[in-house]
Amino acid sequence: MFDYDQPYLTRGRAIVLILALIGMGWLILQTMHATPVELSAWRGPMVGAAAQQSASLSSVFQPAGQGLTAGSLRPQGNPLGVANTVMTQGYGVGTHAPAHIWGAVDLAIDGTGNGRADPDATWGHPIYATHSGTVKVSRDTWPAGNHVWIINEQYRTGYAHLQDFAVESGQVVERGQKIGTVGSTGQSSGPHLDYQVWQLQNGQWVNLNPLDFGVFDMVR
Ligand SMILES: [Zn+2]
Repeated sequence: MFDYDQPYLTRGRAIVLILALIGMGWLILQTMHATPVELSAWRGPMVGAAAQQSASLSSVFQPAGQGLTAGSLRPQGNPLGVANTVMTQGYGVGTHAPAHIWGAVDLAIDGTGNGRADPDATWGHPIYATHSGTVKVSRDTWPAGNHVWIINEQYRTGYAHLQDFAVESGQVVERGQKIGTVGSTGQSSGPHLDYQVWQLQNGQWVNLNPLDFGVFDMVR
């Protein structure tokens, strides 16, 4: 029988309730916090470690069969330029939502070959333009930190949280040209590159998924 003389919220029940709330909060935070995605989990078998080390820039920026030139307007390839790139936050999730405003992918370097981001290997890693265009540099912005836009008449790509710049505003770059190094400036919890792709459609800049532009289409 229920004891009406006892308060319903006893000390024991209060502790259980608090623990349950802490547990639920922890679960919600875990879900919100993006877990690193293993390259092999969504790109098929990872290329061999030796192949990763020897992946040349020309192969990364020249996907098979597309005949792209350095002056191509369309973004193509991996802005970190190496095969041991991993994605630490996907498109349209977490801080990349809603995708039409914040759509991006976060990229880092797996320096140890375990398929996960490695801060030591990521700090200061070179960043390369994925297409031709004119540079716009912004320093110490929020949330993007040190930021580069590369803009042409069809596309623009955004590179955020840079440690340092290798280009300046107004400079014209081509695909494969170094534009800066990876850092953790702005709203960032660790070294990574936030990479965005936008296309001009009927006079409007439309955010697109960078994974549709060959970020992980490595050619051996
Ligand atoms: Zn990001």
